Amino acid sequence: MIHLSYSRLVAYQACPHRYYLQYVLGCRTPFTAAISFGSSLHLALQDFHAQMRGTPRLEELLEVFLKRWIPYGYRSREEQARYFEEGLEILRAYYLRNLFGFRPAWLVEKRFTVSLGGFEFVGIIDRVDGRPELYQVIDYKTTRHEETLNSLQLPLYSLSLKKLFGLPPQSLSYYFLRDQTTAVWEEKPERLEEAEEAVVRVGEGVRVGRFQPSPGPSCRRCDLRRSCALRPPSSGAALSTGKFPAVSDDAKGERPGS
Ligand code: SF4
Repeated sequence: MIHLSYSRLVAYQACPHRYYLQYVLGCRTPFTAAISFGSSLHLALQDFHAQMRGTPRLEELLEVFLKRWIPYGYRSREEQARYFEEGLEILRAYYLRNLFGFRPAWLVEKRFTVSLGGFEFVGIIDRVDGRPELYQVIDYKTTRHEETLNSLQLPLYSLSLKKLFGLPPQSLSYYFLRDQTTAVWEEKPERLEEAEEAVVRVGEGVRVGRFQPSPGPSCRRCDLRRSCALRPPSSGAALSTGKFPAVSDDAKGERPGS
């Protein structure tokens, strides 16, 4: 059975050969500081909201961050220390921004598998507040890009959640950790259709083995270019070292460093 996720969709849409390298051949993507940092913040917030009883203290949040810190992917001790400090600052700001609205989450890191467009679609939702009849979904991001806001991630999650819980969420939003802002997604039928069509297009492409390369400017940003014999000549020639463990993004690819 072919299973897709948002990150698989993005990989295929960027370059079907990239999808082939990563998900068919199993080539590892480099474990970078951004991935490590984003994962550490997500894990800390996951524990913090899962363990919340009454009004939590700031120290509890900082302690889980320390406990969940992933020390891989940094180029030097100094770089790691800088990121760690930044993480503490982000979480202090997060605590102050939300101090009067803290409540235990209904679900954290909720994994789901649903059928979309005839394919299995998997994902992980960072946090769900509320209760089954009235719930709000929050996805944390460590970067803010227009691409994020316009991506198919939230439409795909909206379609999936309706199947999972039988009701659409009251709200679906991104929480941008670096500036403590929120962007609430406005549901539009055409975006939902677009999302389902993308699943079908990519799923069919994978099913029939259509993995043609799309070399071009996007090769510069491709984290598998070192493993790709089809990249433009200027992209470098070394093979991936696979030095750091790969992070599975089957369920939620953009999470680390997202
Ligand atoms: S380097 Fe370019 S052609 Fe090769 S997989 Fe990446 S995006 Fe595709």
